[in-house]
Amino acid sequence: MTKLNKVTLNKRLLATGFAFIILCAGLIGFNHANIKVLEPSVANAATVTYTATANLNVRTGPSTANKIIATVKQGTKLTVTGKNANGWLKVSLNGQTGYVSGQYVKISNSSSSTETVTYTATANLNVRTGPSTANKIITTVKQGTKLTVTGKNVNGWLKVNLNGQTGYVSSKYVKISNSSSDAIQVVAKPESIPVLVNKKNKLPENYVPKDLVYTSIPFTFKEKTEKRKMRSEAAVAISKLFTESKKQGVSLLGVSAYRSHATQVALFDSYVKRDGYAKAITYSALPGTSEHETGLAIDVTGGNGKCAAQDCFGGTKEAKWLQAHADDYGFIIRYPKGKESVTGYKYEPWHLRYVGKSIAQTIMSQGITLEEYYYTRAVQK
Ligand SMILES: [Zn+2]
Repeated sequence: MTKLNKVTLNKRLLATGFAFIILCAGLIGFNHANIKVLEPSVANAATVTYTATANLNVRTGPSTANKIIATVKQGTKLTVTGKNANGWLKVSLNGQTGYVSGQYVKISNSSSSTETVTYTATANLNVRTGPSTANKIITTVKQGTKLTVTGKNVNGWLKVNLNGQTGYVSSKYVKISNSSSDAIQVVAKPESIPVLVNKKNKLPENYVPKDLVYTSIPFTFKEKTEKRKMRSEAAVAISKLFTESKKQGVSLLGVSAYRSHATQVALFDSYVKRDGYAKAITYSALPGTSEHETGLAIDVTGGNGKCAAQDCFGGTKEAKWLQAHADDYGFIIRYPKGKESVTGYKYEPWHLRYVGKSIAQTIMSQGITLEEYYYTRAVQK
């Protein structure tokens, strides 16, 4: 599969001088599979606006079995307020809630809340009619070509928009391109389990997770502080992970889980006083941008307590076990090796982030990051 996909550039194509400059996303219709990519946009953007691509029934529920509330004309803007369920989107229409089929809407061009995500081909690359090498080659693009990703990664294949044409490329031969914007967005749904929080996507001021509980796992310290807390679903998951790892002869300790906004503010301020803002920002998260404030992240270390949140944890038996098994419990290694320009953080083999099992398995099996899963912009340090 690999060989078939990584091709030498077709001379004929060269001769015809195809210039594949990829234009804006947002002009693409979405099928059931790739509507899912829009969930994170809902989760982390202020508002997501879609446009009806046909005259469209708005129904009381997410299937054609439900009553029609209204029919909107092609071109109508719809505000999507809920996740896709079986290809149906929850929308708000003049304040009323309804459901529309995802087949007849496209993400709006004008929406400022969504951003074009550009990838770069890392090799000469076939663009195919479908997401596998069994599909026909539409064209071959040169290494370095910018591609606008418009659809969710399915089995390692990305849907792209190439001069207005839809095609599929293997994700093995693309990398996320530089960010097009430096603005920091405030996440709209901080309580969403797979929420994206990073240096470009911050939690709202005063956000406190509602379901924080004390985890049952052992930590490197004895005190009963907020650092032991996680959101309930993540707390259950980390407990299972610790129990199973121990059965397999790998003992772990928690180092730090939840960190309140106030703690992060105090911590960051202390670093700024000591080292100055410019330096502090390189190693500490700005308040609101730390995953620890979500209650979904935890730093762990080996049972001997050494190398807690330090580089020497990398390569240990415990780190290897986590790399191989964390996703079975819904966790990802949030800051992988070699992805610093995407996540904004150097490799942190100890920082686990709970995203739920399905997303965790997708991310870990493909060796990608949460940013890449969402096709959001890369975070440049
Ligand atoms: Zn951490």
